[in-house]
Amino acid sequence: MPLIVEKKPEVLITEDGIRTDGRGPLDLRPVKIQVGLLSRADGSAYLEWGGNRVLAAVFGPREVHPKHMTLPDRALLRCRYNMAPFSTPERKRPGPDRRSVELSKVIREALLPSIFLERYPGTAIDVFVEILRSDAGTRVAGVTAASLALADAGIEMRGLVTAVAVGRVGDWVVVDPNHDEDQWGDADIPVAFLMEEKEITLLQLDGPMTQEQFDKALELASQAADLIYEVQKEALRRPYEAVRLEILRRGE
Ligand code: ADP
Repeated sequence: MPLIVEKKPEVLITEDGIRTDGRGPLDLRPVKIQVGLLSRADGSAYLEWGGNRVLAAVFGPREVHPKHMTLPDRALLRCRYNMAPFSTPERKRPGPDRRSVELSKVIREALLPSIFLERYPGTAIDVFVEILRSDAGTRVAGVTAASLALADAGIEMRGLVTAVAVGRVGDWVVVDPNHDEDQWGDADIPVAFLMEEKEITLLQLDGPMTQEQFDKALELASQAADLIYEVQKEALRRPYEAVRLEILRRGE
């Protein structure tokens, strides 16, 4: 199998703020979402975000297996993030690895405050995040899709969780880092918000930033999350809108 050697672009962002994919510093990649497409899951969502393709499926509230994991006063929330072997430029070895264990944990923790787990004592809610194609920012794409799949499953929630990454490339703070920026940029901050209260449920930082850059990054993440939240809400409404139109059509 040929080894794919990636080359660092000579310029990650121009003096005028043009990025390697032609975006400006504040631009998001296109986001498209569809809910309820897996009939065997209780809830599901499919999300396209730039080159990312993510499927989230929710099963539950359901019986807990193994039984000894049952919590008497609330639901057990489990989450599995998995990258398909064909999701990366070079075939990824199938199965769990350190990264997928970490991402499963952070996605679970980002969703946790949004769910009324105490309303489903003694049950399990299982969330599966499958990355079909990866293009930087899969954890935030996973959180965003998983939250919608939970809502689609009819699980009682405080509100939706919306996640987005921001990064630093030289002196620029950029929204929604692309693959080049993720790989060769100076810092990457995935952030998730419980949108009702704009409470942060996930924040990671993997590079140096000044306080000023950090504050700006959080502000930009919040603004970007507002835009993605609109796409999420529209995706949740769409199936009902289709039913409403069908009823109207039949009534004619
Ligand atoms: P995130 O996807 O949340 O940004 P990382 O920062 O760990 O998480 O990964 C950045 C990007 O690197 C991923 O979105 C993916 O495009 C790529 N990547 C991650 N793991 C692998 C892998 N095993 N093989 C090839 N590319 C990978």
